[in-house]
Amino acid sequence: MTSTRIDNLGRIVTGDFESPVLHAESVYLEGGRIVEIESTTTTAETVIDANGLTLTPGFVDGHTHPLLGGFTPRQSALGWCENYLHGGVTSMVSAGECHVPGRPTDAAGLKALAVLANGSYRRHRPGGVKVNAGTLLLSDDMTEADIEDVHQAGIERMKILFALKSVEHASDLVQWGRDREIISMMHCGGSSLPGTKNITAAMFEQIAPDIAAHVNGGPTPLPDDGIDRLVEETDMVLELIVGGNQAVAVDVLRRAHDRGELSRMQIGTDTPTGTGVIPCGMLLEMSILAGLTDVPAPEVVALATGNVARHHGLETGVVAEGRPADLCLLGAPMGSQASDAMGALDHGEYAAVDKVLVDGELLVERSRNTPPAKQAAVVH
Ligand SMILES: [Zn+2]
Repeated sequence: MTSTRIDNLGRIVTGDFESPVLHAESVYLEGGRIVEIESTTTTAETVIDANGLTLTPGFVDGHTHPLLGGFTPRQSALGWCENYLHGGVTSMVSAGECHVPGRPTDAAGLKALAVLANGSYRRHRPGGVKVNAGTLLLSDDMTEADIEDVHQAGIERMKILFALKSVEHASDLVQWGRDREIISMMHCGGSSLPGTKNITAAMFEQIAPDIAAHVNGGPTPLPDDGIDRLVEETDMVLELIVGGNQAVAVDVLRRAHDRGELSRMQIGTDTPTGTGVIPCGMLLEMSILAGLTDVPAPEVVALATGNVARHHGLETGVVAEGRPADLCLLGAPMGSQASDAMGALDHGEYAAVDKVLVDGELLVERSRNTPPAKQAAVVH
C-alpha cells in the first residue's frame, strides 16, 4: 500500500468549524487514508517536507454543473475539472447536469440523464477529482414510482430549477425523495435558464428542500425580505457561491455567524455556467468571505470542506484519522504581506496551492492556477 508522511507542517486547518485549527507537525497516510496525525511512524515510501505550509482538506465544491468527464458544453471547455484540482478542489457535488444540449423535460429523459452521469462519474474521475453527480432534475410528469426507480439506481440528490407547474407537486417530489434519503437542493432567486421561473421565499417555505442553493443568487438573489425569511424563519442549508451577489453573501455569512449557525452554511462555485469556468472559484469565494467579514479564515475553510461534505453525506472534507487523504498544502502567495495561507485569506487574497493529494496520491506538485507559495514543500 502506498504510504506518505508529511512533516514540518505549520498547522492543520481541519475542515471542522467547531475545532478549525489543530497544532500538529506531521501526518501519516496509507492506503488512501489519513492514518495518524502527529505521526510516530518513521518510514514511508514518500516523505513530503511541508516547509511550514498549512495542511487543509481538499476543497469540496458544493455546487457544480458537470455533464460527462471533463467536458462542459456550457462554455465549450475541456479539462475543466483538472483545472479546478489545481485550484485545490478534490471533490465536487453536482447541482444537476442541466447543460446537456436539448435537455429533456420529461421523467424518462431526466431519469436517464441522472443515471448516466451518476454511473459515468462513479467509474471515472476527470483530472483525479471525485465528482458526485447524477442529480435528478424534476419534471411535471414525475411520480413517486420514478423517485423509487432512481433511488434503486443509486441516485442520492435531486435539484429543483423550477420548470415545474405546481408548488404542491414539487413539495411531494421533495418528500418522496426525503423518504428515501435523497437530498434536495432548490435554485434560489431569479431565473437562470430559459424555461425556468423565479423562485421565491414563499415557495421555499412550502416546498422545504434541504438546501437553498446559491442563497446569494445564481446569479440574481431574492429581494432582501426573502433573504431575511430564509435566514430567520427556516433551518435550511444556506449556500454561498462565487457566481452570485457578494454583498448578499457577506451579509448572510455575518448573520449566520452572529446567530451561531455556521453549521448550516456551505460554499460552492455554481460553475460551469454562464458565469464561466472558474478554477480558483472556491479560493476566490473564501478570500471574499474571510476578507470582508470577521469570520476567521479556518472557519471559512470549513464551510468549503467539512460542511459541504456533511450536508451531502460524503466521507471527505475533514483532516481526521480514518478519513480519505484528500488534502491540500497551502501557503501565503509570493509578494503577500501575510505569513501563511490563512493570513492571506483573512486579508482577502488567494492562498497559494502548493500540493494537492487525492486518496493519498500526490496529483498536483505546484498549482498552475494560483500564484506560487512563498516557500514550497519538498517531496523526497
Ligand atoms: Zn447551479
